[in-house]
Amino acid sequence: MHDLIIIGAGPAGLTAALYAGRFKIYTRIFEKLSCGGQILLSPSIENYPGFPEGVSTFDLIDKFKKQVEDLGLKVEDENVLEVIPDGRIYNVKTESGIFKTKTIIIASGAFSKRLGIKGEDKFIGKGVSYCGTCDGPLFKDKDILVVGGGDRALEDAMFLANYANIVHLVHRRSEFRASGILVDKVKANPKIKFVLDSVVEEIAGEEKVERARVKNVKTGKDLDILCQGVFIFVGIVPNTGFIKNLIKTNESGFITIDQKMHTSREGIFACGDCAEKGLYQVVSACGDGATAADSAHKYLLKS
Ligand SMILES: Cc1cc2nc3c(=O)[nH]c(=O)nc-3n(C[C@H](O)[C@H](O)[C@H](O)COP(=O)(O)OP(=O)(O)OC[C@H]3O[C@@H](n4cnc5c(N)ncnc54)[C@H](O)[C@@H]3O)c2cc1C
Repeated sequence: MHDLIIIGAGPAGLTAALYAGRFKIYTRIFEKLSCGGQILLSPSIENYPGFPEGVSTFDLIDKFKKQVEDLGLKVEDENVLEVIPDGRIYNVKTESGIFKTKTIIIASGAFSKRLGIKGEDKFIGKGVSYCGTCDGPLFKDKDILVVGGGDRALEDAMFLANYANIVHLVHRRSEFRASGILVDKVKANPKIKFVLDSVVEEIAGEEKVERARVKNVKTGKDLDILCQGVFIFVGIVPNTGFIKNLIKTNESGFITIDQKMHTSREGIFACGDCAEKGLYQVVSACGDGATAADSAHKYLLKS
């Protein structure tokens, strides 16, 4: 019987493990891919406090991991398939067996949907991005393309226009899913140019992004847009399929939490990008992870 199982070893899960280790809670950490999570898709991070020059994400995650391992904890290769409640105990089912635990912290993160077009994977971190808050400042006075028609795409287009020379907003329809007020604000921004009824078919360049081929779905005509960045916002999917019938989620699958990271079920806490919240960043994932471990600790003391 374990006190705590942490599902996912990204920034949220590793910080939860750090705090759990220091609380001396008997903890296991299960990770299905590689320790570090989504941030490893980016070679460096420039908005993590304490590193004014930026830091390599591999170095940062190595430090996170070492700090956890120094407490005697280790990240185990386990893909969690299901969580089955049994009274006040939970059975965590993985590909290799069933593990009993009194509490669970879900830190399983999310992933950005890809367009699946030529050049997209090749240029991730070299002009292709899925996060305006993270990478916007790197595109000062550059020409960029934003792809998408929802709130996130339009909010990030506005944010990116603070840095970029010009933002081409490519959307496959002529109407937006985003709220009307936001659409009006974007239309009023002189730096944002609309490329409607259009889809991006290819991202091209030598070492970095240099242009994108955009096709008008009504006329069938291709247009080459010169740009140094392509920001893609066509949806974020939380990794919560294994738990979604057990706890409350919103319609997109993000776990509903309160300020102390409690979910709708006693003994289960959630933190980081898998939860419904305001800011999806490393620093907030770490804060959420610490809070989740504190709440799990308090729950264990009471039970
Ligand atoms: C390209 C890119 C660039 C970014 N740049 C920045 C930046 O500059 N600054 C910044 O602050 N943020 C940045 N972000 C956002 C940041 O990466 C996330 O906010 C952060 O990683 C969230 O941490 P997390 O621990 O909640 O989730 P994740 O990092 O997604 O980690 C979740 C982990 O859980 C594991 N997992 C999922 N399901 C299971 C399961 N069933 N069983 C076991 N393990 C499971 C996953 O494999 C993963 O390792 C960027 C994101 C991307 C994609």
